[in-house]
Parts: sequence; structure tokens; C-alpha cells
Amino acid sequence: MIKTASQLNPLIQIVDDDFATRLLMRASLEKEGFRVAEAENGLIAVAEFEELHPDAILLDVMMPKLDGFDTCRAIRKHSRGINTPILMVTGLEDLDSIHRAFDSGATDFITKPINWPVLNYRVKYMLRASEAFNDVVDKQKQIQELAFFDHLTGLANRTMFKDSLEHVLTESTAEETQLAVLFMDLDRFKTINDTLGHHIGDILLKNVAERINTCIRESDTFSRLKKNESKSYVSRLGGDEFTIMLPKLRNPEDASKVAQRINTSLAQAFTIETHEIFISASIGISIFPLDGTNAEILMKHADLAMYHAKEKGKNGFQFYKKSLNIKARERLSFENAIRKAVANDEFSLWYQPQVNLQDGRINGAESLTRWNHPTLGQVSPSDFIPSIEELGLILPFTDWVIRQAAKQQCYWQKNGIRPLRLAVNISSKHFVQQHLPDKFRRAIDDSTLKPYSFEVEITESVMAEQSGETLEILQHLKGLGMTISVDDFGTGYSSLMYLKTFPINSIKIDRFFVKDIMTSPQDAAIVQAIIAMAQSLEMTVIAEGIETSDQFRMLRDMGCDMGQGYLFSPAIPAEDFTKLVLENTSFNDLL
Ligand code: C2E
Ligand code: MG
Ligand code: MG
Repeated sequence: MIKTASQLNPLIQIVDDDFATRLLMRASLEKEGFRVAEAENGLIAVAEFEELHPDAILLDVMMPKLDGFDTCRAIRKHSRGINTPILMVTGLEDLDSIHRAFDSGATDFITKPINWPVLNYRVKYMLRASEAFNDVVDKQKQIQELAFFDHLTGLANRTMFKDSLEHVLTESTAEETQLAVLFMDLDRFKTINDTLGHHIGDILLKNVAERINTCIRESDTFSRLKKNESKSYVSRLGGDEFTIMLPKLRNPEDASKVAQRINTSLAQAFTIETHEIFISASIGISIFPLDGTNAEILMKHADLAMYHAKEKGKNGFQFYKKSLNIKARERLSFENAIRKAVANDEFSLWYQPQVNLQDGRINGAESLTRWNHPTLGQVSPSDFIPSIEELGLILPFTDWVIRQAAKQQCYWQKNGIRPLRLAVNISSKHFVQQHLPDKFRRAIDDSTLKPYSFEVEITESVMAEQSGETLEILQHLKGLGMTISVDDFGTGYSSLMYLKTFPINSIKIDRFFVKDIMTSPQDAAIVQAIIAMAQSLEMTVIAEGIETSDQFRMLRDMGCDMGQGYLFSPAIPAEDFTKLVLENTSFNDLL
């Protein structure tokens, strides 16, 4: 930090070969409270500058060895000497010396013989001006930090990164060298944020930034760069997305080595406060000049490659290839199709029976959306619901599901079908923004339905997110007479706390555990434990994905209340479901 005149006793360096002048200057300046350091020639002055770091310099022009002009130039080359006020002491008031003093970087000049009181004021004026100047420089730096660096991690932001990339690309073009752009996205970061809170999420991002920096510094590429340069070579674009550029690449494989090093480094647990967190990342790589010649395209292609890495199963890296562009176009047209489907009601709601495992009879259904696409055919909800969420269409979509479910219930009621509870899946995205209680209440008010006609299926992440508001909404739904179940139990951040805090009626054991219940004693033990826990909390247990009669029997013997699965029936259209209920078969025959 540059010292300023506002601090006590600024230090003035006097550079003059004449002993008498130095003596008089010292006396005059010290009387005014300045501290003084002397140098008897320019070489000594430059040599001592770094250590002394004076607040101002009085510099004689006529000196042997290095004259005042050259001394001034040498000090200005110092990074800390750029803004130090330098007062040139010229022998003669000739225009030529004044010109040369100005050209060599002097701040001001004073002529000999020196008028001592004036000298003191000159120094004070200079310091005051430099203080104001340094203030401006500091502000500018601050603004730069804000405008070009990510405040959380201290890494470059998108603007800075793109600028530096453009700059480095110009050099790479001139030098005919290769460069890689890495686009990195953390896997499942949202879950961590949702379950452990933004505070922990932020700290995690900071730690990730540090690990990336370490990996990059250890790479050969960066050791060839100047120290300060590397600062703008890693950026956080926002959220959990990072970009890295690797200039002067010997061959593209070196980029994959860096990607691997980052993945290995991130695989080590992060300990944040009391949490031990495991994460992974997916990385996409594009190479200059092969995959693009400007920053925009290289970043876009690295981003596409990152998506590909995610699709390939996360925790990996992928190089960009041209075929990804086609995929991106396909994705775009898929998204357009979804927008249209939401607008044009291209979905239908199907129903999967939920069976009472004790008597084998249907006592409810889960509604599952189907999309019959004109050219793609049946599209699975696992494929289109994430897109609907990403496109911000989940609200109109959920409205449709609720209206459709209510309509179907009314139809069954009018046609004398015995009352069955219909479960509706509610996406965790924007759960609190969905005005769910109002929507369900309206759907009930508009019909002659009983509130207990509905069960709301939420996932564990809903409870972790904004828990205060979630609690209120769930209580409201329960107040209306609906029941609430936790879907896919055991696959997220299951916490007994949630089950105790929130008004939950039932737990759905994920089919992942049911699948191997016959062969894996561990899965069987987990299922048994979930059932026991639910019983002690007076909750109902629903097993998902029952496909064999062995699983059916085992779950029933374990005391599981309800079940659904292909053994009984997959999700089927409303008419087929109606028939099945009217037949009133008992699935106990399957045992
Ligand atoms: P989920 O709520 O866990 O639904 C159960 C999924 O398991 C359904 O897949 C169902 O068809 C499937 N399934 C049922 N029995 C068996 C079985 O015995 N074996 C196997 N292997 N699978 C079985 P689906 O219909 O493809 O739905 C996938 C997910 O999409 C659902 O998982 C749910 O999270 C979501 N989803 C479906 N419809 C909606 C909806 O209307 N709104 C929202 N927000 N999400 C929905
Ligand atoms: Mg469900
Ligand atoms: Mg489920």
C-alpha cells in the first residue's frame, strides 16, 4: 500500500551529489516534520528505492554516473514507482531541461538556488495531489475488481475471462500455438445447496476455486506464464460453472491431463464446518484453432462438450466434436416441441394402481404424465420433466396436471367408482412459488370432490429447501384434508428430522431398494428399517417398483402397507384403469 501524506511523517528521498545541498534540504524538510533519506547519486537512489519506498523524491538533474533524467526514468519503471511524486531540481530554468524533466516522468520542477519555504510547500502540494491521485487509482482498482472479478471466489468473471481469452487468442494466432478452453460444471451442486444451505454452498464454491487454481498452477502450461497473468485464466461464470484457458498447449492431450487432475483433486472430500462433502464435476474441452477461432465459439463448444460429459455419466471430461452441434440443435427443437406441448395440451395423465398389500386390492393410484409426441412417440417423463423445469414451464404444466387429475376424479365419482385417493407428483422446482394450496382448493371447489381425493407427492429436496415456507404450504395442504407422501425415499438426503418436522402421511420406498430386496440382505435390511421407522412415526409405507410375486410376498410379510409396480400394472390410460377397478380383482392371487 502506498503511503500517503495524510499519514504522519512522510518519507522524502533526497538525491543530490552535493553534500551541502543535501544538508540544507534535510534541515528544511525535517523542520516541517518530514522524514528524510539521502542518496548521493542516481544509482544509489534507484537501488534503495525498492526498500525505502519514499513518499516523494527530490531529484537533482546534474549528477555524475546516472543523471536526474535517467534516474527518474529508472524509478518510473518500478511497479511501485509509477505514481511516486518526483520533484526535479534543475540548475537552470531553461526550457530544454524542463522538457526533458517532463519527458522522463517528473511530477514537477524547482530551480536552484532553492527558496526553502517554497520547497516545503512544493513537496506538500505534490503529496496532496498524489494522495488524491492514489485515491482515484484505488477506487479504479475497486471498480475493476467489481466489474471483472467474481466477488465470491476472486476469480475472473465472464467479462474478464472472455476479454483475456480474446487477447490470448490474438497471441496464439500470431505464434501459431494451440489453446484449450475447459468448461466445468459441478455435478449435483443444487442438491448440496438445497440440503445444506447457500452458506455452505458458497464456501464449497470458494474451496473448489482454490483447488482448480492449485491444479492449474501445478500444470506445465501455467508455469510458462507470468505470475499475474494466470489470475484471469480461470473464471467462475456464475453458479457452479467455471472456465479455464490453457494457452500454449503442446498437444490437446495435455488439456485432458489437466481435466483429469481437476477431477482427481475434486474427488477428495471437502470438510466444511461439520459437513464432509463429496462432489464431482463434468468438464468439456474445446481446442483452438480446431474447434473455433474466437472466444464466443470456443466457450460455446466447450459448454456443449460439458453437456455431453454429463450425459455420459458425470465426473468425466469430453472433447468437443462436431456431432455435438447436431445434438444441440436436436435439443433446441425438443425444447420448442415442449413449449408447444404445454401450450397445446399434448400430454395425457395415466394411472398406476396402488395396491393394499394385505388384501391385494387397489386403494389408490399414482398419476403419471405421458407425452405422445407426433414424431418421437411416447416420451418418458424422466426425459421431459427436467426440460420443462429448465424452460420455466413447470407452473403451467403443474396447473394442467392438477386440473386433469381433478377432472378424472370427478368423472370416476359421477360414474359410481368407489373413492380412491389419487397421488399427484409435484416438482421440487419452485415448490414454494406454485401456490399449491390455492390451486388444489380451486380444483376441489370447482367440483364436488372431497379434499381427501388427493395425495401430494413431494421429494426429500422439497423439505430441505426453504423449510419455513415449505412447512407452511404443507400444513395448508394438510389443512385442506389432503395427504402428503415423500417420493423416492432413501435416494436423497433422507433425514429423520424432516419426517418429524413436516406433516408427512406416507413414505414411498424407492424402487432402487425394492429391486434387489430378494438378493441383497443389505437392501432388505434398509427396507425393513424404513418400514419400522414409518410405523413408529405412524406413517404409511408404499413400496415402488414391485415386479415379482416374491417381492410382493416379502414386502407384505415385512409389514409394508401398500405397493405399486409392473407386477400389478404399469401406468395405464384412464379407461383401462377404470375397468381394472370395476373388476375389483384381488392381486393376492399372484402370491
Ligand atoms: P416416480 O414418481 O418415482 O414414479 C414412478 C416411476 O416408476 C414411473 O415412471 C413408473 O412408471 C415407474 N414404475 C412403476 N412401476 C415400476 C416397476 O415395477 N418397475 C420399474 N422399473 N418402474 C416402475 P415414469 O412414469 O416414467 O415417471 C418417472 C418420473 O417422472 C416419476 O417418478 C416422477 O418423478 C416424474 N413424473 C411423472 N409424472 C409427473 C407429473 O405429472 N408431474 C411431475 N412433477 N413429475 C412427474
Ligand atoms: Mg411419484
Ligand atoms: Mg418414486
